[in-house]
Amino acid sequence: MIPAAFEYVAPTSVEEALAALAEHGDDAKVIAGGQSLLPVLRMRLNAPEWVIDLGRIDSLRGVRDGGDHLAIGAMTTHHDVGEDPLIHEHALLISKAITHLADAQVRHRGTFGGALAHADPAGDLGAPALALGSTFVVQGPGGTREIPADDFFVDLFETSISEDEILTEVRVPKHGGWGAAYEKFVRIAHQWPIVAVAAAVRMEGDTIAEARIGLTNMGSTPLRARAAEQALAGQPATEEGVAAGAAAAAEGTNPPSDLNGDADYRRHLATVLTRRAVLAAAGRG
Ligand SMILES: Cc1cc2nc3c(=O)[nH]c(=O)nc-3n(C[C@H](O)[C@H](O)[C@H](O)COP(=O)(O)OP(=O)(O)OC[C@H]3O[C@@H](n4cnc5c(N)ncnc54)[C@H](O)[C@@H]3O)c2cc1C
Repeated sequence: MIPAAFEYVAPTSVEEALAALAEHGDDAKVIAGGQSLLPVLRMRLNAPEWVIDLGRIDSLRGVRDGGDHLAIGAMTTHHDVGEDPLIHEHALLISKAITHLADAQVRHRGTFGGALAHADPAGDLGAPALALGSTFVVQGPGGTREIPADDFFVDLFETSISEDEILTEVRVPKHGGWGAAYEKFVRIAHQWPIVAVAAAVRMEGDTIAEARIGLTNMGSTPLRARAAEQALAGQPATEEGVAAGAAAAAEGTNPPSDLNGDADYRRHLATVLTRRAVLAAAGRG
């Protein structure tokens, strides 16, 4: 199918984009890489009268060193984020997750901000962004707002970005020296995850000093596996020690049941993948 007809505007600054959003209100939709929005338009699940393309706003692109954090511009492509040396050094978990995200074509068109604003619970970037304690920066008519990751994801395909706001950057606290791993369970290559686990681990000798764990597709939003994080802190990084902590990974989750697996199967996957991800992040995988 082809999309319903729409008017198209491609502003060159965030201010112009916000003005277009304010003018057209409910009739407008912003487009980033188009990798999720275009299929929606083609299936006519949404038919905005105006499409506001953020692709010509250069200030929304790139990774910047912000001192204690990295600032990732919303329009930076998955490929560019994944290849960035600052990301490798300070937010390894994000580059690990991106290597599992879709295929090279999607990674060259899709954007970091677009994927997070889309808030698909099976998306690969929510769990690592949440696990690393990111802050989401949005700009609207009233100025700039910072939203902590815990408050950003509201429900299935729903975030706390208001309709008159644009996500401009994601600030990821630096985690230099932390090990990281992303374990994604799929049945065929390049599939969306049935379940995935993002784990970052700070080691002290042979002991796990701290663990940060995000879960993909274990509820209507990305989730932190807080019970497992607590259980893992202070554990030796052995098969037994990690398995004991990972057993709590599905606590407090509400996974979906579908043709790929029921909720119990997903809970089982969460514990297995957490064990594997934590062992790999601890350098024992
Ligand atoms: C074949 C295929 C396979 C894929 N596989 C995976 C996968 O395995 N894992 C995975 O995580 N993803 C996957 N994706 C999705 C991919 O990550 C997309 O890039 C992403 O979901 C959307 O990013 P985008 O830049 O294309 O956003 P768009 O499609 O342009 O926009 C998505 C939504 O976000 C809104 N939006 C975009 N940018 C902003 C902003 N700055 N501020 C406010 N709202 C904004 C739009 O209005 C729209 O509602 C796949 C996509 C395809 C086509």
